[in-house]
Amino acid sequence: MNLHEYQAREILKRSGVPMPDAAVAATPDEARTTAARLGGKVVVKAQVHAGGRGKAGGVKLADGADAAKAAASAILGMTIKGLTVHTVLVAPAADIASESYVGIVVDRASQRPVLMVSAAGGIDIEEVAAKTPEKIHRLAIDPRYGLLAHQALGLAFKLYRDLAQARAAADIMQKLATTVYAVGASLAEINPLITTPAGAVLALDAKIVIDDNELDRHPEIAALRDPSAEVPSEVQAREAGLTFIKLDGNVGCCVNGAGLAMATMDLVKYYGGEPANFLDIGGSSNPQKVMSALRIITADPNVKAILFNIFGGITRGDDVANGIVEATRQVPLKVPMVIRLTGTNEKEAVQILTKAGYSALTDMDEAVQQAVALARGKRGAA
Ligand code: GDP
Ligand code: MN
Repeated sequence: MNLHEYQAREILKRSGVPMPDAAVAATPDEARTTAARLGGKVVVKAQVHAGGRGKAGGVKLADGADAAKAAASAILGMTIKGLTVHTVLVAPAADIASESYVGIVVDRASQRPVLMVSAAGGIDIEEVAAKTPEKIHRLAIDPRYGLLAHQALGLAFKLYRDLAQARAAADIMQKLATTVYAVGASLAEINPLITTPAGAVLALDAKIVIDDNELDRHPEIAALRDPSAEVPSEVQAREAGLTFIKLDGNVGCCVNGAGLAMATMDLVKYYGGEPANFLDIGGSSNPQKVMSALRIITADPNVKAILFNIFGGITRGDDVANGIVEATRQVPLKVPMVIRLTGTNEKEAVQILTKAGYSALTDMDEAVQQAVALARGKRGAA
């Protein structure tokens, strides 16, 4: 689960990370009032679950209340990476002498949270990671001891030569590490961590992603969820008990089991297609779930073909078939569909589908190739 910057800031602030005070505004007038209260120069920032807001025009400096109002009207309603901006954050603008990056991400390879720091922070950190990875310094955190003071200081010296600044940065790194465990984060990032011309070290941005598996243990964090800021299809899917991730391709995938769903996406790519989504209807299915899944997939205008890939173990083929028939009876499909179905109650499933005028394949390669061809508009393929 993604948090908004203002939520992440509150969490880090409570842990003692130094950061300018900020307030949230939902209208240009609210932004104006806040800016007037803060006085002087402010920064107005889009609150959306997307990085790269600065580059997208979602972060603007404004000198005075009227300029803040104008900046807020430009940012509110703007879309960044497909997400609409509903609120902005207004904070006093800091003077920046240098921008660093400090982040912690749970790393599968080392099976630990890894602290990453770079003196080349700011809006181009992705480019730094891609082109000059040697500028990023890493340390895997041992969960038994947490991030120790000397380890943090060692990395802080990669950012600052000044002892006071290095100590301040080390302290921030330790607080960030404690926060990762306290809230169940899979990622916690400060970019930029700045120095001011006066020499202070401050966090100007905060990003925290919570591991969904931690939400039950942290109800106060789960309560921070903002469905209005999430991709609508992902919200619907969660409410229907489906695991769904929207992607950018045109082959809508409906699969049972996460492993098979991954394999299906791999095969779609292998045959030259692009999956429109990851969707796992779950191990045990029922017609209702299949109907929800089809509704979510077909609501995506990018989807040009639908691919069902069902390997019936606990999932019953007839349940899936009934779901497909019922869903398409209620809302007739506008795009072609390919069904691959084998396993439990396969015979019953094929009977149900045949009666409704659909056919089912048993070979996965064949089904994926057909779906990819159909998505390209090659009608003859099926
Ligand atoms: P992101 O692009 O989504 O990561 O948004 P950030 O909050 O990191 O802002 C992007 C960039 O805007 C930062 O790297 C800074 O260069 C600049 N910026 C953000 N806040 C301030 C501020 O208070 N003062 C100044 N001068 N620049 C800022
Ligand atoms: Mn940033």
